[in-house]
Amino acid sequence: MDMQKSGFNIYERHDFDCECGRHHKMPIGEVVIASGAARKLPYYVKALELGKKGILVTDEVIFESIGREIYAYWQEQGLKIECYVLKGRIRPDEYTVGNVICNTPFDADYIVSLGGGTVTDVVRYAATRLNLECVSIPSAMTMDGFFTNMSIIIVDGLQVTYYLNYPSLILADSDIIAKAPSVMNAAGVGEVISKISAGMDWYAGKLIKDIYYCDRVEAMMGECISEGTADETIEGIVPGEKKAIENLTDALYKSAVAMAWYDSSPCGSGAEHQLNHFWIKCQDEKGVPQSMHGQEVGVGAVINTMIWEEIMDIDFERFDVEKAVEKIWDRTEWEKEIRAVYGEGAESILELQAENHSFDKAARQNEIEKIIKHHEALARRFEAMPTSEALIEKLKKVGGPWHPKQLQIDEDELVKSLYFAKETRSGRYNALWMAEALGIMEDVASKIIKKLEF
Ligand SMILES: [Zn+2]
Ligand SMILES: [Zn+2]
Repeated sequence: MDMQKSGFNIYERHDFDCECGRHHKMPIGEVVIASGAARKLPYYVKALELGKKGILVTDEVIFESIGREIYAYWQEQGLKIECYVLKGRIRPDEYTVGNVICNTPFDADYIVSLGGGTVTDVVRYAATRLNLECVSIPSAMTMDGFFTNMSIIIVDGLQVTYYLNYPSLILADSDIIAKAPSVMNAAGVGEVISKISAGMDWYAGKLIKDIYYCDRVEAMMGECISEGTADETIEGIVPGEKKAIENLTDALYKSAVAMAWYDSSPCGSGAEHQLNHFWIKCQDEKGVPQSMHGQEVGVGAVINTMIWEEIMDIDFERFDVEKAVEKIWDRTEWEKEIRAVYGEGAESILELQAENHSFDKAARQNEIEKIIKHHEALARRFEAMPTSEALIEKLKKVGGPWHPKQLQIDEDELVKSLYFAKETRSGRYNALWMAEALGIMEDVASKIIKKLEF
């Protein structure tokens, strides 16, 4: 848990003027990653002046396995805290939010969440709504979302993303996280691995679309990747070794730091994250359970890396620009496909892409020429990346999914996602956009299908 070379402690709230010209900040009050961290809540409540009275919110499973004992320990230590246990299988919706709000005492100063993504999201939302301090104690390390200010809440049946107050304190206790089923922490490794392909996409975005780039953000993301994919980490996930859990947690925190500094997600979210959104849509339509975010983006990273492998296999010195330009979508054809793939959601996508998705041959030619101009820089960055096989190896070792089939995504859905997953966002650039620009998507899709032995 090192200090940054610049002198400030990245585990405390901080902000600084960066060489990139922007002012960066990480607004989380304090982050503690250690064995026994949760037991120190009484100390931190006092040190950070979180207030006189708190409430612990957790779910039944977590309360029975770890919550009851920690709660009793805090009370023994003289902490004034109540407890509310959410019943049954919880959904992050109005009902659950309402329960948390109604069961929070009027005189509470802070809310503590103890649990996975759902409990954490709901409590963060309720704390912001009630204007209370928020403390998160994650029970598994499935993603980097624990260290952000984002919550997804289902309102009127629709998933809505909220940007809320950052937590005042996060106690990531390796004693607790190590006890989680290892598939959950394996999902966290999937999230770390997704940063590898996301980084390549982000770099391409900088070169081809002038997307804002910062070397310090890149370096922080690099620390996340090297720590989260080190042998010591990968090998310790299945046996639940504390050091491995702490490395993974620290890696995911660093990813969140990088994204907080950048103040947006392109540095940590590329094509693999867009593929994940598309696959979730497929899972919902089929009525199969959604996979964990980290599982989806881990598989997404394998696919994204495979796309990059095809792009970088091109002989750019002899690339036929005209032939590629001729492969540009006809707008009417493309709209027809979008309607077929997205159904009711198509209109908002057509609106979003009205300006963003170019159907202009001159603009396309320009984009291809830019790619060719930068192909050596792209190749250098690509050479530093692990291969898709190496990623598969790591995902297998931690017991995480690596193949779309393991997410119940079939060949047809995978191919559709390669063509259309990117359409739900504008202002982004990644391997999906680049493969389309180069007119190679058909080829990329068939090669990936072959590699995956569908
Ligand atoms: Zn910067
Ligand atoms: Zn993610």
